[in-house]
Amino acid sequence: MAATFRYDDGMTQTPAAAGRVAFLKTVPPGELMIHEIYRSLQGESTYAGLPCVFVRTTGCSLRCSWCDTPHAFNRGERMPREEVLAQALAFDTPLVEVTGGEPLEQPDVIPLLAELADAGRTVLLETSGALDISQVDRRVHVIMDLKCPDSGECDRNLWANLDHLKPTDEIKFVIASARDWQWAERTIREHRLDERFRVLVSGVYGLNLADLAAWVLASKLNVRMQLQMHKYIWDPTARGV
Ligand code: SF4
Repeated sequence: MAATFRYDDGMTQTPAAAGRVAFLKTVPPGELMIHEIYRSLQGESTYAGLPCVFVRTTGCSLRCSWCDTPHAFNRGERMPREEVLAQALAFDTPLVEVTGGEPLEQPDVIPLLAELADAGRTVLLETSGALDISQVDRRVHVIMDLKCPDSGECDRNLWANLDHLKPTDEIKFVIASARDWQWAERTIREHRLDERFRVLVSGVYGLNLADLAAWVLASKLNVRMQLQMHKYIWDPTARGV
């Protein structure tokens, strides 16, 4: 029997993937279930440090062992898509990231991304890599995870997504252990990811970063090690920052 994960905010989730997002089927076309919309500094990616509006959607069918947004698994408010767009634009900030949860669990995220780009925003999509990205507007900068073994979700990686990424898109590996790094290094070489895309390597908060830096340097891969900036500026468990 598969394990039941317990997160540090006390939430317990059974691991049946489809059931985890079944509640999203009650959201009618034209609406989205939104966890929060706020403005902060972009903490990761090649856009790190820039002011950014975050649209955080509710729901994710994965349960990564180190997930830092379990509060977005099932808490949110139904909103018309036009209202989500209006709120995001009202911050008058050039950069907008749609994140989650997993944004692509909700069909209306696809038109929302295009509408944000139509409005002249630079649009980032943070996605788990487990759902099809082929319908995402080509103006959107995709930041896609490839889940390493210690996440517990490695078998959810949708490898066909690599064929839909653009050279300017970013692939992120979150590393929790030496085993994860070895898997990431092997995967990057096998798919020539550092020649085809921007590759980000991030340590789970608490990992010895000097170890990770040494592994990256020793590999001679053309990858960018990054810190989750917001976790060093604010309390690592703080929300809405
Ligand atoms: S994909 Fe993202 S939101 Fe979903 S469980 Fe993993 S880290 Fe959390």
